[in-house]
Amino acid sequence: MAMNRAIWGARRGLLAPRRSSPAAVYRRAAAANYSTSSPSPPSSSSPASQRVPSKTSAPAFAFAFDIDGVLLHVAEPIPGAKESLRFLHDNNIPFILLTNGGGKREADRVGFLAERLGVPLSTDNFVQSHTPFRQLVDGGEDGGLRDKTILVTGSDYERCRAIAREYGFRNVVTPADLLAAEPTLFPFRSLAELQQGATPLPKPLYDGSKSSLELESSLKIDAMFVFDDPRDWAVDIQIIMDLLLSHRGYLGTLSPKNGDASLPGCGWQQDGQPPLYFSNGDLVWAAKYHLPRFGQGAFQAAVAGVWDRYTGGHPLRRTVIGKPAGETYRFAERVLTSHRHETLRRMGLHEPPALRSVYMVGDNPESDIAGANGHVSEAGTQWVSVLVKTGVWNEERDRGVLVGRKKPGVIVDDVREAVKWALWRERWEGLWKGE
Ligand SMILES: [Mg+2]
Repeated sequence: MAMNRAIWGARRGLLAPRRSSPAAVYRRAAAANYSTSSPSPPSSSSPASQRVPSKTSAPAFAFAFDIDGVLLHVAEPIPGAKESLRFLHDNNIPFILLTNGGGKREADRVGFLAERLGVPLSTDNFVQSHTPFRQLVDGGEDGGLRDKTILVTGSDYERCRAIAREYGFRNVVTPADLLAAEPTLFPFRSLAELQQGATPLPKPLYDGSKSSLELESSLKIDAMFVFDDPRDWAVDIQIIMDLLLSHRGYLGTLSPKNGDASLPGCGWQQDGQPPLYFSNGDLVWAAKYHLPRFGQGAFQAAVAGVWDRYTGGHPLRRTVIGKPAGETYRFAERVLTSHRHETLRRMGLHEPPALRSVYMVGDNPESDIAGANGHVSEAGTQWVSVLVKTGVWNEERDRGVLVGRKKPGVIVDDVREAVKWALWRERWEGLWKGE
């Protein structure tokens, strides 16, 4: 919390990129003890010592870019972003965009970004907060959720449903569907009532009067997903709590195990209740207002707070993905590896060298940097964290937060300097024709 306030306490300012050579950047970083334990940089940066790769060489490195504060600031490109991505694209150096944003279809977001940044992008090199939920369609426990019934919520129920269906989930229920089927579920007027497109439930709700034999014919929710920032917290918390307290996810039932001191965890969440997934743990985010605004992490805290009060302090079991969660970085590396193979295959390189390094370029020590530093690659790829100054981190105000996992491998002015520094470190800087 304190760190969030420190970082987000004032308006973000864009810094004009300084003209520094990568070698000078590295020397400043090393002098400030920001260097990583990664392999030493080249001993000389003189042109004679540089290898000058051609466009047909296969790089053993790649990039992962955060978007807001690195490439865009309130939808406007940050200086250097367009030329950096264009350079990587034109030279077949693979990269992915890795963002904690969400709430739109991947294809829609990618189309917008490609237009703003002036470079071809595809969903193959794009990961947003909820993209890893895809893996649960056919993977995870019990063989996947493709044909199970899931509850989704977020900023726009219908958009969340559309995204979930696009991922492959076939039975998707929203809070608006539940309220349309049973208005007494929530006794106050709610925003959910105003939502268009409520869909009939796949099975009727349990109404408390049926025998246990009839329970199987009632609506059972198998998993709950928060796709992006919910708007109607009261309704969503009520329904999520109902399911966390239910017998096996049958909405309208109450587990007899709840609060049973003879059971592990006093019986809370011990009766087959649906797992709860959040796509993003960020408490606050930078919007147009001059102070930070609450994000999905605040909603998660509200759910956990109600759970804590209801259960007398028992912890709420839930899964949170998005940066800096390890699951998101594992997913991102798989996406990047696949995208890299495809990029290099188009160059005629069917057996590319192993991916040695990924440069994670971000503006937030708490998510981008901590996540990259904490990631342990199954393939042995080293993730190098690169902090830029064009986003939420402020050099004067926030230097104290760069401790532990939040300490970046290097600090540079902007995304252009990040790319140039990485190229220099990889001995590829001869390819950079810019300044
Ligand atoms: Mg950012």
